[in-house]
Amino acid sequence: MIGGSLLVVSGPSGSGKSSLCKKLCAIYEPACLSISTTTRAPRGGETDGQDYFFVSKEAFTASIDKGEFLEWANVHGNYYGTNKQWVRAALEIGKSVIFDIDVQGQAAISKMFPNETTSVFVTAPNITILKERLIGRGADDAAALETRLKNALEETSRIERYDYLLINDNFEESLEILKGIAASSRIKSGRVSLRQFISNWQEQKEL
Ligand code: ADP
Ligand code: 5GP
Repeated sequence: MIGGSLLVVSGPSGSGKSSLCKKLCAIYEPACLSISTTTRAPRGGETDGQDYFFVSKEAFTASIDKGEFLEWANVHGNYYGTNKQWVRAALEIGKSVIFDIDVQGQAAISKMFPNETTSVFVTAPNITILKERLIGRGADDAAALETRLKNALEETSRIERYDYLLINDNFEESLEILKGIAASSRIKSGRVSLRQFISNWQEQKEL
């Protein structure tokens, strides 16, 4: 029996990955978002337990010590971690777990689950549009904006480590593509024990 699957979505801040991931979970029943824990302050409109679990630095460090994270990283000066227990529970009920995490997180998850992980790198069509989207989101002050744009260049140099590149120009088109990737990731042959699958087939003598 095939269980859940892992779909990692990364990309520069402002490329639209959170919007795409959230919408994917709303329109594609098997998908559910891994809710990370962060020390970043909530933005206007963000809800604790829905967008992130917002915690203090001390609480985050305690979770690291207790081994509660599958992976964690410092991104743009804040800490972010993937909750182990949450992911395990979602996989057990066969969900496609969507991870909106950075390039460090992608490297960690792909190493831990090489056969089960599919990865997508999302970008805006160019850096000017990326900047416009970040300004339009209105969540960052000038210093944070600069950090995020600077990091965008570093993150983009890792595109080749991803299975797919999604240039998020038209949102609805990008969403359809992401949905297709999520559906394909559930039937990746690497996720199945091929030996077991073939022997099950051979045991079924009656047609
Ligand atoms: P990220 O999670 O990558 O940081 P967001 O999902 O927060 O990015 O998107 C950044 C901003 O860009 C948001 O205001 C969002 O509504 C907008 N946005 C996302 N995708 C598109 C798109 N295809 N076209 C125009 N604006 C977009
Ligand atoms: P934001 O502050 O814009 O919500 O997220 C900043 C960055 O942190 C994004 O690239 C996002 O994908 C990444 N991120 C969010 N949660 C996690 C996580 O649990 N682990 C890692 N490695 N990165 C994360």
